[in-house]
Amino acid sequence: MIVIGVPAEEKDEPRIGLTPETVKKLVKAGAKVKIRSGAGLRSHFSDEAYKEAGAEIAGSDESAVAGADIVLTVRRPKAEIAKSMKKGAALIGMLDPFSDAEGLAALAKTGVALFAMELMPRISRAQSMDVLSSQSNLAGYKAVVDAAAAFERALPMMMTAAGTVPAARVFVMGVGVAGLQAIATARRLGAIVTATDVRPAVKEQVASLGAKFVAVEDEEFKQAETSGGYAKEMSDAYKKKQAALVAEHVKSQDIVITTALIPGRPAPKLISKEMIESMKPGSIIVDLAVERGGNAELAKPGEIVEHKGVRIFGKLNLPGQVPVNASSLYARNLQAFVEPLIDKEKKTLAVNWDDDLVKGTLIARNGEIVNAMIAERLGGAKGGAAAPAKLPANGTAKKNGSKRQAKGTKL
Ligand code: NAD
Repeated sequence: MIVIGVPAEEKDEPRIGLTPETVKKLVKAGAKVKIRSGAGLRSHFSDEAYKEAGAEIAGSDESAVAGADIVLTVRRPKAEIAKSMKKGAALIGMLDPFSDAEGLAALAKTGVALFAMELMPRISRAQSMDVLSSQSNLAGYKAVVDAAAAFERALPMMMTAAGTVPAARVFVMGVGVAGLQAIATARRLGAIVTATDVRPAVKEQVASLGAKFVAVEDEEFKQAETSGGYAKEMSDAYKKKQAALVAEHVKSQDIVITTALIPGRPAPKLISKEMIESMKPGSIIVDLAVERGGNAELAKPGEIVEHKGVRIFGKLNLPGQVPVNASSLYARNLQAFVEPLIDKEKKTLAVNWDDDLVKGTLIARNGEIVNAMIAERLGGAKGGAAAPAKLPANGTAKKNGSKRQAKGTKL
């Protein structure tokens, strides 16, 4: 019988990759499911609920993963967990493949097959497995809710006998999955919303949500989307024009939510210190790109930086602040990916190594990094998909500069 194991996540990760709902589906598909006692508690899923759904409760992480054919995690686990797994088993989670190369190499060496859900190809067949979308959507929502809660004014316009409260102005930079949800949430709260992106396809989506599109719409903008639907790195000339437009616009904004990312590159710098200084005291910037270097100049990962009365939120793991929904959606993403890996008749692990979704997400097998893109990015061999990678000491993206005059508060 195929066994699926789920260890507990680290202290700073409230989400979990298995819910009672997905236990039922996986058991029905022929799997035996084991979960570490208490692993779902921070998402409010009790051991009893898992047991009722058909899971077995394990007393330790080791016993949850020992003998498992598939181990499901939210984050990349410590190598000790993989060492307790059997060789050839599959470890599936958001393994953060472009950072901490040493940690990744140690995991790969255990001989476990590593699958990074972040690398799921964005094709229609894989939509139900798209963890970036399921989590970014919640991040966009939470960014606005956090900003609204911290903002010392109201968001909607209110007409009262004592006078009118003006609507707050919210500017969303980067209109992917997170940005669209940020716009929708800010609109529901009654703010006047504007948004920008470098992809022309976004213009209509912004309008359909009742927001105004603000962008430099030149010839380069018309070509700015890749065939995969992502943004391209823009030319210096475009960046200059965009910066001038944003500088003018940002002055009048109360809340700015930045979500701009370019696949495989550091986040584009869109808000300079001067722009921050041009904003009214009490304004708030929430930088969702902070883990990839940040869109705002003074943003610091995990901190609220206050600069001349403007607060810049660099909160990490926003989906983890809505863990019940984030875990439910993430667990469904995992279940959708895992079910086709199970031979329902023989009840064994039956991975089709030629499947595009398997090839896209597989990063290591038989002790070697097998994803050519990651091997290359980690500074290793360029010799094709099966080439083992030489891993540099640390592949983490460079964090923002450390010489800051602004005041920082740990979140
Ligand atoms: P993302 O997280 O990579 O980037 C966020 C946004 O930042 C993007 O809209 C991007 O265009 C924008 N951006 C980049 N540089 C910018 C700059 N200099 N100024 C302003 N904005 C900038 O994006 P995402 O949320 O992953 O979505 C990217 C695309 O993928 C979208 O078209 C989305 O609809 C599409 N998508 C497809 C699927 C699917 O087919 N399964 C699933 C999810 C998303």
